[in-house]
Amino acid sequence: HVTFDYCDQMVADFEKVIDRPIREKSSVYYTGVDLGTACVVVAVLDENKRPVAGAYRYADVVRDGMVVDYIGAVQIVRELKEEIEEKLDTELIYAAGAIPPGTDLLDSGAVKNVIQGAGFELTNMLDESTAANEVLKMKNGAVVDIGGGTTGISILRDGKVVYIADEPTGGTHFSLVISGAYGKSFDEAELYKRDEKNHRELIPVLQPVIEKVSSIISQHIKDYDVQELSLVGGTCCLTGIEDIIEKKTGVYTHKPKNPMFVTPLGIALSC
Ligand code: ATP
Repeated sequence: HVTFDYCDQMVADFEKVIDRPIREKSSVYYTGVDLGTACVVVAVLDENKRPVAGAYRYADVVRDGMVVDYIGAVQIVRELKEEIEEKLDTELIYAAGAIPPGTDLLDSGAVKNVIQGAGFELTNMLDESTAANEVLKMKNGAVVDIGGGTTGISILRDGKVVYIADEPTGGTHFSLVISGAYGKSFDEAELYKRDEKNHRELIPVLQPVIEKVSSIISQHIKDYDVQELSLVGGTCCLTGIEDIIEKKTGVYTHKPKNPMFVTPLGIALSC
């Protein structure tokens, strides 16, 4: 299988420039805007398509791939754009966006309008798995996007998406399990889950639901030549989730250092 070196390097570089943007002038900047359920991420690349700046914000403007708070989404993207423009001392003009695979064109309109409404000139719209694979560079594998409400599985053959599925099990179920096990409210469980310090303790509690996600993956990939899985999406931030998925599916499983940053970088590459 592929080495994922390019992906790991891009994500590591991106993490660095979020704190310390690279202010050397570039003739052009490419921006990727990723509107997620938990998080809105903006990634900026220079003329050589290397990360130079980025910003993100936890937000509640998208649910299951649908923009539910349009005004809020425009405002956040505009604020992140201005924040980066100030850091880079330049104006960001071009941006690309993405929608979950299988989402109808109707919602692609909403994402498009959010990006344009925030002041960008939109240069490209693509599906999130194709975007992620711009960075992952898998030939015969699957992008597994474990988000809030759903788990998306996109199978690639010769680097192109040939099959997609979206199943209604995701991070929300993880939080419900934690809520039940610890007697916490859903919101408390959600915060507890996002804190990396609690992950080791949570893994045994979450094992059954992670195994359920694994069996969903196995079900969908069984008729395809899938040589590797790559995990993206907020729920994959859970430390150790990759080991359980690899063991249960029997397929080599790669997890980027930060699974939330792969798609926005891929969107920026496509800009
Ligand atoms: P959806 O499937 O609902 O469309 P999405 O792909 O837009 O969602 P993401 O933003 O990728 O969603 O992921 C949201 C989920 O990730 C939430 O359930 C959230 O609790 C979870 N999450 C975010 N950060 C972490 C973390 N550090 N550890 C564990 N889970 C996390």
